[in-house]
Amino acid sequence: MSSETNTDPRRETLLYQPKTGFDTLAEGQWDQALSFADAYKSFLDTGKTEREAVSEAVRLAEARGFAPCRRGMAVRPGDKVYRVNRGKAVTLAVIGRRPLAGGLRLAAAHIDVPRIDLKPMPLYEDGELALFKTHYYGGLKKYHWLALPLELRGVFAKPDGTVIPVSIGGKPDEPVFAITDLLPHLAQDQYKKNLAEAFPGEGLNAIAGHRPDAAEGSDRIKLSVMGILHQKYGVTEAGFPSAELSLVPALPARDVGLDAALLGGYGHDDRVCSFAALRALLDLDGIPEHTAVCMLTDKEEIGSEGVTGMRGSAFDTFMHDLCEGQSVPLRACFENSLCLSADVCNAFDPNFPEVSDKRNNCRLGFGAGLIKYTGSRGKGGSSDAPAETVARVRGLLDRAGVRYQFGELGKVDQGGGGTVAAYLARRDIDVLDAGVPVLSMHSPFEIVSKLDVWMTYLACGAVYGDHAE
Ligand code: MN
Ligand code: MN
Repeated sequence: MSSETNTDPRRETLLYQPKTGFDTLAEGQWDQALSFADAYKSFLDTGKTEREAVSEAVRLAEARGFAPCRRGMAVRPGDKVYRVNRGKAVTLAVIGRRPLAGGLRLAAAHIDVPRIDLKPMPLYEDGELALFKTHYYGGLKKYHWLALPLELRGVFAKPDGTVIPVSIGGKPDEPVFAITDLLPHLAQDQYKKNLAEAFPGEGLNAIAGHRPDAAEGSDRIKLSVMGILHQKYGVTEAGFPSAELSLVPALPARDVGLDAALLGGYGHDDRVCSFAALRALLDLDGIPEHTAVCMLTDKEEIGSEGVTGMRGSAFDTFMHDLCEGQSVPLRACFENSLCLSADVCNAFDPNFPEVSDKRNNCRLGFGAGLIKYTGSRGKGGSSDAPAETVARVRGLLDRAGVRYQFGELGKVDQGGGGTVAAYLARRDIDVLDAGVPVLSMHSPFEIVSKLDVWMTYLACGAVYGDHAE
């Protein structure tokens, strides 16, 4: 081929030639991306459960003038309101210039993350140890959680109505918890098993203590551990079933690579899109045309069911309350709305190239990943956004100068997954999946590109700021 062929101008116009976002960053944008990543790091380390992430989101929002929304409250363009759903999900809105009949501009992300929950009656004693029985939450590879320092975070809820927060292991001087792994010397049988058989869920028991109580009788270590919990939180063993206690990695978010251009940490899926969607709303300049809404929802990792999940109706109730103030039927508002289902996708992984179609997989550093459909097999379970919706979002991002790329979750028939997009679509809201590509998704140390995080933040801002009818 002659070099003339390679410089044919039609190449530029006719062919789609994806480039790393690093080559097209505007002056100063990388510094902005880095400082945004630093703010995100502290959000990750502070909020390791959905409750903590909600508290942190509310704290950040109130610092920017957001106030709780009460039913019947009159709202005017420019007002900034939020409503927390049972401490585990939050919806925030900036009221737009146009009536709500013109629809909302939304970004919906989830703040729950795969983790190891304690069972309702977790504490027992065996092998000179006190242990917690656990039940994992979400789709995780169980072996990731062995021989790893773990924090205990969550709440004890008491019948008298008090809710006591629990956080042990986050500070360097606090003890951590751990699930043991088998020594290689004795793993001959384990090596021959497949992963599901080698790491049974029932085997994920976490060390909770070792030193026996001085009392006589049985279960002296368990007694000692229960004594410590009673002293710290005023609870007895009968209080465990009305607790939500989770073991999460006792690892802070860290820069990755010599150039520190990547960010590793627990919970990027989906706190990275949550933070991007939240900050984009908090940073909105002036009064948006349409009411801009950020939804941080719970329970996505286990199917979005439950009173705090996207299949619950708390979001509709909140929006109904806002619409009533303008005498707009909720359905009329929803049918004119546009939503980014802001959730992570898989980044192409050079260690596992065989699971991806390289031409249709998101890449690190190429910007926010737009995913037309998720699902598994023949797109099963996906809301599969209409072409017009994809085009609309392309237009919004192009006008805002946002770097983005297209992808789908791995090769056809390789596996699959879903997001909250389907539950927005069910409400008659136009929705497209968009988010940050992730390496090692659902592991205790997920990795993202700081460029993609920044671009996803800009993408959410572009949707909130949509001027179109
Ligand atoms: Mn997930
Ligand atoms: Mn997700």
